[in-house]
Amino acid sequence: MNVIQSINGPVLTVCAARRGHTQGFAMAEMIRVGGLLGEVVSLRPGEATVQIYENTAGLKIGMTVEKLGMPMSITLRPGLIGGIFDGIFRDLRGGDGAEAEFSTVVTASVGDFLEAGDVFALVEETPAITYQATVPSGVKGKVVQAAQNGAYTAFFKIIRLETDKGEVELSLSQKWAIRVPRPVRRRLSASVPLITGQRVIDSLFPVAKGGTCAIPGGFGTGKTMTQHQIAKHCDADIIIYIGCGERGNEMTEVLEDFAKLRDKKGLPLSSRTVLIANTSDMPVAAREAGIYTGITLAECYRDMGYHVAVMADSTSRWAEALRELSSRLEEIPAEEGYPAYLATRLSAFYSRAGYVENLNGTNGSVTIIGAVSPQGGDFAEPVTLHTKRFTGCFWALDRQLAYARHFPAINPLQSYSNFTTSLDAWYAKNVDTRFAEYREKILATLIEESVLLETIKITGEEALSPADHETLALAKKIRKTFTAQNAYDPTDTYTPLPIQFEMMKSLCS
Ligand code: ADP
Ligand code: MG
Repeated sequence: MNVIQSINGPVLTVCAARRGHTQGFAMAEMIRVGGLLGEVVSLRPGEATVQIYENTAGLKIGMTVEKLGMPMSITLRPGLIGGIFDGIFRDLRGGDGAEAEFSTVVTASVGDFLEAGDVFALVEETPAITYQATVPSGVKGKVVQAAQNGAYTAFFKIIRLETDKGEVELSLSQKWAIRVPRPVRRRLSASVPLITGQRVIDSLFPVAKGGTCAIPGGFGTGKTMTQHQIAKHCDADIIIYIGCGERGNEMTEVLEDFAKLRDKKGLPLSSRTVLIANTSDMPVAAREAGIYTGITLAECYRDMGYHVAVMADSTSRWAEALRELSSRLEEIPAEEGYPAYLATRLSAFYSRAGYVENLNGTNGSVTIIGAVSPQGGDFAEPVTLHTKRFTGCFWALDRQLAYARHFPAINPLQSYSNFTTSLDAWYAKNVDTRFAEYREKILATLIEESVLLETIKITGEEALSPADHETLALAKKIRKTFTAQNAYDPTDTYTPLPIQFEMMKSLCS
């Protein structure tokens, strides 16, 4: 038996109740104490350190700590779409989905040989999303029993497989350890854009499906708004929205908004969205886990052949949770008090994005768009700098533009997309062969404008040629009519790609 030896906020040390007894904990193993869940984060002879995902106010020294024998995991099952969960995937509307029954089509038959990733049952989760129950990783064998089509709970055993390791029964649900990426057959190049209907994004700084993107910006520059706009309008099949350490009422707004708003097929946005909420008033350890819960969920739907977009708002609050836990673990701090493994963790998170061929041969993608909220809008701080290393797109939000109410306040001189080269063929084929040319012209004009404005400061307007004046006039027009876009205006809020092209064309000719 193991008991609590010390308590420091969410961090506990645990030892064997009697000297000489082994503890038998594994790293990253889940534990339960006093009804609360936690995870083993470090092991020393005779002592384990665990972080608790909930408020530890009721815990006492000497309480029994129960081993759960598996790493921190979530249970994927039908009925999650439209839901709201906390960082460790507890349903914030209550219940655990154990009783609900789902009308199930069993696609596997007795005699079929199934391998990891193969689909054996379908549930129409929403009119837009069909949940596909797949054979878990590491399992393969012949179907020796299969249920009829019918209404089943997520945990009812639908098929039985005969494998070399004995018989295995599978239900609609599946457990997965959140810190472990789900396997794929192979990674494909990211060559299709995620269309957002936001002109400055789609036309000038596009993100690919399966790509990664950072939205850094100080307070009030429009990070949340930009994420909401993408969540509402982008052409992903599924949105996983991770509210991470930000204000709770923003999540409530998302929830209310998305139930009202309709997508292009006329379905409520909630029928393609899952919210993970770990707002500023919720425990830090669960906030740290919430990022992994969200990305695991995204991978699960990717494995079913869907294109999933993950929004994380804000990864800086997540990094702060990491910093707080690290300091309670008395680890040696690195830059600005963040642990030395901050970069590794950020890299591990963003590397779970990708456009892939799944184990079952279908294609799917996970796109990650992370907001970064540096103190005072200083992009030279560790979270922004490291995020920049691991993301392919950088939409730098600018305080001056936000003050001037130029939204989205994406500064075209500081922003970039590394995806343009791999996406140009798609734009040429699906929109127009001159798309890339116009983008270059518009970006060049905005850069030239900034140079000319500097010149004016030094030598005055007289030094400018008529051509320079034309450039300034064009740049102004681009900013006023193209890059600025009002999210609150019912038509301006979304611009279809062909219209974005026509607008660029008329600006450039
Ligand atoms: P942050 O998350 O960076 O602190 P918000 O996303 O909450 O900032 O944005 C702050 C305010 O800026 C919003 O309440 C809104 O008034 C304005 N804003 C941001 N983006 C847009 C946009 N695209 N269109 C209109 N207003 C915007
Ligand atoms: Mg915000």
